[in-house]
Amino acid sequence: MKASKFIISTLRDAPNDCVIESHKLMMRSGMTRKLGNGLYAYMPLGYKSYMKVQKIIREELDEAGCLEMKPTVIQPGELWKESGRWDKMGEEMLKPQNRQGQDMVVSPTAEEAFTALVREGLSSYKQLPFTLYQINTKYRDEIRPRYGVMRGREFTMMDAYSFDKDQKDLDASYDNVAAAYRRIFKRMGLKTISVKADTGAMGGSGSEEFMVESPVGDDTLILCPDCDYAANVEKAACAKETPLNSKGEPQVKTDLPVEEVATPNVFSIEDMEKFFGEKSTTFLKALVYKVYNCALDLSKTEEYKNAETVTEGKQTYYPETYWCVLIRGDLDVNEAKLASVLKASGAELANDEDVLKYSGAPHGFVGPRNLKIPVLADDSTLEMHDCFAGAGKEGFHIKHVEPGRDFTAFMSADVRTVVPGNKCPCCGGEFYMKKGNELGHIFKLGDKYTKSMNVTFLDENGKQQVPTMGCYGIGVDRALASIIEEHHDENGITWPMSVAPYHVAIVPVKYDGEMKAKADEIYEALSKKGIEVLLDDRNERPGVKFKDMDLIGVPLRIVVGEKNLPNVEFKVRTSSEAELLSVEAAIEKVVETVNAELAKLNG
Ligand code: ATP
Ligand code: MG
Repeated sequence: MKASKFIISTLRDAPNDCVIESHKLMMRSGMTRKLGNGLYAYMPLGYKSYMKVQKIIREELDEAGCLEMKPTVIQPGELWKESGRWDKMGEEMLKPQNRQGQDMVVSPTAEEAFTALVREGLSSYKQLPFTLYQINTKYRDEIRPRYGVMRGREFTMMDAYSFDKDQKDLDASYDNVAAAYRRIFKRMGLKTISVKADTGAMGGSGSEEFMVESPVGDDTLILCPDCDYAANVEKAACAKETPLNSKGEPQVKTDLPVEEVATPNVFSIEDMEKFFGEKSTTFLKALVYKVYNCALDLSKTEEYKNAETVTEGKQTYYPETYWCVLIRGDLDVNEAKLASVLKASGAELANDEDVLKYSGAPHGFVGPRNLKIPVLADDSTLEMHDCFAGAGKEGFHIKHVEPGRDFTAFMSADVRTVVPGNKCPCCGGEFYMKKGNELGHIFKLGDKYTKSMNVTFLDENGKQQVPTMGCYGIGVDRALASIIEEHHDENGITWPMSVAPYHVAIVPVKYDGEMKAKADEIYEALSKKGIEVLLDDRNERPGVKFKDMDLIGVPLRIVVGEKNLPNVEFKVRTSSEAELLSVEAAIEKVVETVNAELAKLNG
């Protein structure tokens, strides 16, 4: 490609709304332009790398035996009503109507579509297993699209769906895609962290998220330096510790009865530490939570035994319940973990009015007694002894509290927020933390969709069975942005060879006379050898051309300057040294380097 025939339109400064490097560089290099909030277009330069990312994904999935197809982006709302997700998906799903007033969906994901399409032709176990995939447009009406294509509204996803006759086969299909993922990310030059995922609203069990590190990542990861434990903070667990008293010794059981202490100005944990002169590890923190759609059986609780429930399919839940969560004073409750153990769709701190109503005391004086709601005790409180707590009465605290003796919890569970420094439950290593973004995931769905959407086949014995599914996703745009996050310097992008828009840039100092002749010669020779060449034949100052090629991130560069002829300068984008070589040697060197780099990534 000759630069004069291409669109090279670089910016000195990134637009104001760019925060992260990949967004800045994609805009500055002219790869992308913004059409609207969360809506980014790939310009011809960006499109080249975007398609290379797709190509890598496609090649590896095809190699793994997955089958590419193309369902539609617009889907009938009916399918989503069948699966039960029409209401559950919420505001993120764009639901236009056609002229007949029929509900439609702009695909935010495609479990329903693939399940419906497979249902059409599946009859026998002999047709199984298979894994179908598409690389196609998705739309999610993200509340806060940000960081360019990293979190857009319209984006491209590779989504795959496996169909198997039983769990054993599903395990194999899942492992097969997992292996392809590892090759895909390696070929793109991406380091990923593999994390046990929060399965959230999807249902099913067995899943893995592939995260890329990012200082502005939306996920917080808890990692162990000594083993491969890695978890989202919304799921992370840590090794249990013996609760210590203020002297750092294990807490000791007391026979003293609970004693009320007037504490008119003691509201927070810090106030308690000051007032009692004790460490927060001896305090029982009590928090009132409002919990949505709890699907636990609460018929054995005093408070909710007669409460109204809602039944939807097989699921029965309590639309709104309140809980008192007890946790050791130095720890925090993780609301995602709390919602998960309560089989709820969400949990949030109750407002002041509700705190008073259900605990008999304003915030700061809530304790394990006088409650009108069930207690969930965090595991950290189980071994606590002789502790301090709110009295459940304004202006008072209690001491000598013995869990089990002075109150009973309806249930106990691990709901604490795990933080760096906590110990790994697998090996005792000391956790550290990283921020990251989800780049891809793999997920054993089970029969969630095949059952609700009535997909069946006949097994070896002629018996009707429901196939089991896996689903798999990779964000194409997010992959591209993540590659730039990992591969850039102060001058621009430093593409891995596999996804660079061009392998080599030829920059004649002036595209004229002998320099033009040599540049053309090299261009022809390299193109013939299958090397992707960008010849910068623009009538610009050399400095401008060098800057642009660096910003765009072409991995190799040949400069043809009059004073060096008949030699030319060969330079690797990431190195500060240039080499003077004969034209033949430079051509040889480019071919060698491109092939070596590709082999390294593909190997
Ligand atoms: P996130 O937690 O980041 O919102 P998600 O769990 O909603 O991700 P999935 O439904 O698993 O994402 O979608 C599969 C992949 O699609 C993600 O791993 C990510 O790479 C990509 N993806 C999801 N939402 C977006 C978006 N708004 N913009 C760009 N890529 C996205
Ligand atoms: Mg999302």
